[in-house]
Amino acid sequence: MILIKNAKVLTPKGVVEENVQIEENRISSIGKSVDKSDVVINGKGKALIPGFFNTHTHAAMTLFRSYADDMILQEWLEKKIWPLEAKLDDKAVYWGTKLACVEMLKSGTVFFNDMYFFPPAVAKAAEECGIRACVSAAFFDFFNPDLLEENLKNAVKNLKEIEKYDVLRAIGPHAVYTVSLDGLKRAAEIAEEMNIFIHFHLAETEKEVLDFKKQHGNLIVRTLDEMGFLSKRLIAAHSVWLEDAEIELLAKRGVSVAHCPVSNMKLCVGKAIRYGEMKNAGVNFTIGTDGAASNNNLDMFEEMKFAALLQKFYYSDPTLMKAEEVFEAATINAARAFNLKSGVVKEGYLADLVLINLKKPYIQPEHDLVANLVYAASSGCVDTVIVDGKVVVESGYFMGDEGKEIEIMEEVAKIASKLTS
Ligand SMILES: [Zn+2]
Repeated sequence: MILIKNAKVLTPKGVVEENVQIEENRISSIGKSVDKSDVVINGKGKALIPGFFNTHTHAAMTLFRSYADDMILQEWLEKKIWPLEAKLDDKAVYWGTKLACVEMLKSGTVFFNDMYFFPPAVAKAAEECGIRACVSAAFFDFFNPDLLEENLKNAVKNLKEIEKYDVLRAIGPHAVYTVSLDGLKRAAEIAEEMNIFIHFHLAETEKEVLDFKKQHGNLIVRTLDEMGFLSKRLIAAHSVWLEDAEIELLAKRGVSVAHCPVSNMKLCVGKAIRYGEMKNAGVNFTIGTDGAASNNNLDMFEEMKFAALLQKFYYSDPTLMKAEEVFEAATINAARAFNLKSGVVKEGYLADLVLINLKKPYIQPEHDLVANLVYAASSGCVDTVIVDGKVVVESGYFMGDEGKEIEIMEEVAKIASKLTS
């Protein structure tokens, strides 16, 4: 049992100074007097908030952070990223993911939705770090039926292998420009059979959309709908270049969108996601950082701020995407996408919580906690992180131990220099 005393608790009804009790992995009470607890955390001068959910990333790409920047997308992929990815092995992915987990936890993230190579290494790293994760078995077929069979077999094998870890699972057909329609259909069938999620890149660039239309004479989302690919299982990253009818379909089928504003801006995808239309249609809207090669960090504070600013700037409307809306996208909406009773500080919900140290110059005074978190805060104010009822960040350090962080950073440095040499 954990008792957090006298914190300013961000509840759905507003901020209240209360005691919060955690039993096992759930919030058992807010505001009731409690006699005994194994762990008592002093919440004075701190705010207790739901942790963040990063709904689209490639965690192990921390290995390539700030290795290749300021380049044209295609050139960046072909000359820099793909040659390095060809050299990856499970050890590199394991350590790269560990670094990502520590970075995410220390910036208040309690869950990440990943898509990368060597999924068992990702699952092992996430479980060891005590962070929630949805791990995808990603695959490409490059429109080759033989390659599809081989890669699907491998994806299913990986999915079975990671069942033993404490993670959610997804199948990850990469995108319509790397996976055939047959491959997408098969992925949806596997997701249904195995009762898992689908993690997919959708309509990231105009080229992707125009090429698809030329080849199939139809909109991407409409085509996907006709083959039964759209459902509550689907998390569609980017979803930038969509028409009204496609947005309506995403909402109708219960698809969740993972918006990645920093990556979209850095790689110049050409426009801003159509948030206003998505909101009106009722699309479940969430936020992701994308990988550290195109961001270059995994900080959800920054991502929330960029998301809100991008909408306001691009559509010339300062009222668009208010602080509370972007905060919900980063918490409760994402929890909903993954069927987790989390993302809000409420009795009976999972204890996936962050204690924010309010005694930081950049979040003073305290006019509005949520506006401070979205527009002013940075990861330096994260004091304690609790995931599934367990303390994983203490006094700002992973497992309360700077030595553990240094060990991971040293391993990653060795691997990264070997990859680039
Ligand atoms: Zn991505």
